[in-house]
Amino acid sequence: MECAAKGIVSTPCEPGPPTRRCGMCGAVSYCSPSHQKLHWGYHKEECGRFQEQMRKAPLLSDFPFTFSDQLSLQENCAFLESMGLHLRGMWKYECSCRFKLPSFDQSSDSWCLPSLLCPCTDPETDLKNSIKSWKEYYDWRCLPLHSPVSVLLHWPLTVYHSIQLCLSRTPLSEAGNKLNIHYLGPEREISQILVFSELRALLPGVSIHIEFVGPAVPLSRDGETRNFNKYAHCSEADCSCKSSYDNSSQNSSSLKGTLTLKLRKGLYHEVYSDITRDTKPNIIVAPNAGIAAYPTWLPTLEIIKRMGVPAVFTDYCEEAAYLASHCIGSILGRAPEPIQVNPFRQPVPVEETALNLPCYSNCFIFGSQTC
Ligand SMILES: [Zn+2]
Ligand SMILES: [Zn+2]
Ligand SMILES: [Zn+2]
Ligand SMILES: [Zn+2]
Ligand SMILES: [Zn+2]
Repeated sequence: MECAAKGIVSTPCEPGPPTRRCGMCGAVSYCSPSHQKLHWGYHKEECGRFQEQMRKAPLLSDFPFTFSDQLSLQENCAFLESMGLHLRGMWKYECSCRFKLPSFDQSSDSWCLPSLLCPCTDPETDLKNSIKSWKEYYDWRCLPLHSPVSVLLHWPLTVYHSIQLCLSRTPLSEAGNKLNIHYLGPEREISQILVFSELRALLPGVSIHIEFVGPAVPLSRDGETRNFNKYAHCSEADCSCKSSYDNSSQNSSSLKGTLTLKLRKGLYHEVYSDITRDTKPNIIVAPNAGIAAYPTWLPTLEIIKRMGVPAVFTDYCEEAAYLASHCIGSILGRAPEPIQVNPFRQPVPVEETALNLPCYSNCFIFGSQTC
């Protein structure tokens, strides 16, 4: 964390971490009383908004998991270590050690957990109603609340939730049970793509295709296509998740979904004409987008506007979502879309943040055409 006045006021900051918090919102910190005073002219406009956002902290940290207390007290490295998952399998990029790792050169296919703790095979029952919370998801998948899989499954569950928000009025059967998703700006998901296989269980009978488009896709993997007929597997050698035999055929009543995923390197507005030549997407999903922070979003938003496809964005904190929804509103010439709390946000507080605001991956969700 840095002094909130740094770079805005002309005098240099006192050395050391800023320890004075704004007494009204608590969201910003300062190195000295003088910097706090100098910054007030700027901060007074946002302070009230931050106060509102800080009040949501208890709501946002409310998860049904038994490991949540542990996560608020420990660093992610120690938490993963205690579960035997540190730097292993799909968990490799889930702590600050990721900054020392090569960038997503490979995808793992392992949960590194016993089968009782991870969804490595087809669900026992098909989904009858849509799932609206982590608790409902864990119940349906027969997972105990100490299983940490939500730490990775927030990616596909956020896509699922986006589909529920946007496409609930157009039944998928009208599109021939085909669903084409453009997923913008993937980062560590690239090393965890097997978790998206869970969409097959969540959307039975649907043929799903996902285009992963973003600058973080390694050049060596540009164009890579994966066909998923399995879930990420567990750590047990004799579990049926590893057999080549398709065990879903035993259960003839369930119509399994299919999933293909393709990786594309580049910014969306640079590569979209290639991708959309044959088929338009049904939905665009941009997780943790940072619309207001990255000017490269502007040409992409223009494209999204021209295509007229529903688009859903998420961000880490409410302030980022607030700035983004205003930015989208002004480009689309409309009032900013309402911002909702994502029930499938990652249950892990973000460790290094610029403000003291509550912050989670995929925390707030908003769209350009959420009906
Ligand atoms: Zn300062
Ligand atoms: Zn304040
Ligand atoms: Zn670590
Ligand atoms: Zn494997
Ligand atoms: Zn298994």
